[in-house]
Amino acid sequence: MVMRAFLIDDDDGAANSAQIFSTEMLTFEFKKPETLESFAKELFCAKPGMIVVDYRLDERVGDKDQAVSYKASTLAQYLRDLAGDGGSEDFPIVLHSAEEKIREYFHPEKTAHDLFDHIIKKSSRKDVDEEKRKLDALADGYVRLLELRPYNDKLLVIFGLDKQRAHLIDHQEIHDLAATTTIPHIFARFILKRLISRNGILVDDLTVLARCGVNANDDGNQRIFDELQRLGANYTGVFSGFRSMWWRLTVEIALEEWLGGVVNSFSAQERAAALKQKFGYDFKPAKSAWSNSSNERFTHVCSICERPTLVAHSVAVHERLSGPLIERRRICFNCIQEDRHMDRIDLRIDALDKPVEDAVRKGTIQGEQSGGTYGEGDGNCR
Ligand SMILES: [Zn+2]
Repeated sequence: MVMRAFLIDDDDGAANSAQIFSTEMLTFEFKKPETLESFAKELFCAKPGMIVVDYRLDERVGDKDQAVSYKASTLAQYLRDLAGDGGSEDFPIVLHSAEEKIREYFHPEKTAHDLFDHIIKKSSRKDVDEEKRKLDALADGYVRLLELRPYNDKLLVIFGLDKQRAHLIDHQEIHDLAATTTIPHIFARFILKRLISRNGILVDDLTVLARCGVNANDDGNQRIFDELQRLGANYTGVFSGFRSMWWRLTVEIALEEWLGGVVNSFSAQERAAALKQKFGYDFKPAKSAWSNSSNERFTHVCSICERPTLVAHSVAVHERLSGPLIERRRICFNCIQEDRHMDRIDLRIDALDKPVEDAVRKGTIQGEQSGGTYGEGDGNCR
């Protein structure tokens, strides 16, 4: 199936992006913004497979064109309202913008980014194939969510599960949402923002490897993913093409069996050695960037450097979205020591962990390279 899609930008120079973003599923047409109400209706009635819109649609207008001077969020809200009125037409809306504008836009107090299913940074042109794969996954997910309404008796299909594994989505939040909405973009937002983009009941590839205690840069790790896939641990539901994710519970149960005990009781070195026994492959153990040791019991992946870490070597991120489905993100001491967190407006450190942040920055808490390690305790674990 090939669907019409629109790329909206006030800059004629963006017209060639329409060609670049077109995929096997989506044929993009370039459009410049017009008067809001009639433009939104025109777009909506064209039943597109997707809309990609530039953040600032008001940068190149003269005084006479104030009617076409609005931001992407205004247009997106208008389109979402139209979809909400009937619910029988809906499509992904993707933001396309320069990095610095996205950062301003992503201030934690602003919630307008909830209007968008995905963001493409203009600087990330080199990843265009990866972006196109994601766009196809989004378009495909919306088509499925339109077909699968009402959602309350289709949850197993939506999440790619059979009856035996229904317990994996046995969360009131999921069932309540399915019972109260038939609007695809609301269900899509839930799956994309709360499940696929975040560790929680699902976990990403790097977290799987951190839990396995193995170095992430080793092609041999594919053995682990292949076996987990055989066990049905991979997420195969709606939007599964968007990002590789795994059912945490299935992964943890498998790992516990492979290791012969509770995962957190084993260091990375011990986990990698046990996996060598299981797979007959000499996995490299993961090493802590903070203590420079593989004798650590990794629980998390740092949200900035994406290296394995543990609660005792990291601080918690203040979360606007939190709850039983979403794991609180963490920032490792290395990133704090090197001030990598200072310009991440989207990753503010939780106020309760501020004293720890200050201590790391002042050098009161030091890593192995500085001649000391932070204690084993989980004092800041919440
Ligand atoms: Zn880090």
